[in-house]
Amino acid sequence: MSGAAIRSVAFIGIGNMGWPMAANLLRAGFSVTVCDAVAGRAEAFVAAQGGVAASNAAAAVAGAEAVVTILPTSAEVEAVLAEIAPVLAPGTLLIEMSSGSPLVTRRLAEELAARQVAMVDAPVSGGVPRARTGELAIMAGGEQAALDRAEPVLKAMSTTIHRVGTVGAGQAMKALNNLVSAGGFLIGIEALLIGQRFGLDPALMVDVLNASTGMNNATQKKFGPYVLSRAFDSGFGLDLMAKDLGIALEVGRGTGTVTPFAALLREMASSAVNLLGPGQDHTAFARLSEALAGTELWPGPAAG
Ligand code: NAD
Repeated sequence: MSGAAIRSVAFIGIGNMGWPMAANLLRAGFSVTVCDAVAGRAEAFVAAQGGVAASNAAAAVAGAEAVVTILPTSAEVEAVLAEIAPVLAPGTLLIEMSSGSPLVTRRLAEELAARQVAMVDAPVSGGVPRARTGELAIMAGGEQAALDRAEPVLKAMSTTIHRVGTVGAGQAMKALNNLVSAGGFLIGIEALLIGQRFGLDPALMVDVLNASTGMNNATQKKFGPYVLSRAFDSGFGLDLMAKDLGIALEVGRGTGTVTPFAALLREMASSAVNLLGPGQDHTAFARLSEALAGTELWPGPAAG
């Protein structure tokens, strides 16, 4: 397989994360061709950021040295790969950045290897704000030579790249990160609901948690701007979080690990998706706890 430096990238999936990530590749000097399933999205990206729009994935990958995918789930990645695999030139590098299923990714990597296409998985953490600033944390899996080749592309979008193992290991790590993140979020919301019923001010509770050992990413970055504000607009979907918890459970089951907390979290996330309907932000997970408690969190000092 070719070890030449990558200059041209086909970027498939210009969603909440893909848009700012592709924009950072352009800023770093890569030649970028974008495509998305939503009609007009690639053209809107090109009008705002530059690059070239392709009408479908097969057209996007023509002549590209690397292909980046950042799609909702492994199901969309599999569908795109079925479309592009026959036209991928040997030596192309596939950089799969979705929070996907490690098992599916390993199978896809094997299929691509038969076509002399190396695949690495490089899911991200940091959300839309850090995607915009190019400060994502990446957890990468794959052969060292392929990861070396991917590195300049990944560096244009991130400040931290951890190599965590063979292909699929990045996605296992990502799902486990989101398991911890979701658990911290939900236990924090329960604490706020209890405290509010007791007469504590939820906003003040967040300040106290953030100065104390109960602090976590949700207390620091999510409760104020997205939950107590009632904005629920962080840019990471509740359905995607439920999917990540399902992957964490899949990894748990695949390794024979007993996972009672993960199972509960996954069931609660799926319940929240059903209760709240499609198109919800993951921070609206709090509304499931509110519904179960029969209490809504308030932004201001508790009355009485
Ligand atoms: P999104 O739904 O905003 O974007 C996904 C994009 O993929 C959409 O624009 C959609 O039209 C496009 N798409 C779907 N199927 C396609 C296909 N067959 N061909 C071309 N385009 C297609 O999702 P997102 O929030 O950008 O998340 C993408 C991935 O990154 C998910 O796996 C998610 O779990 C992960 N992630 C998201 C965040 C976040 O904060 N949003 C953070 C870390 C990781």
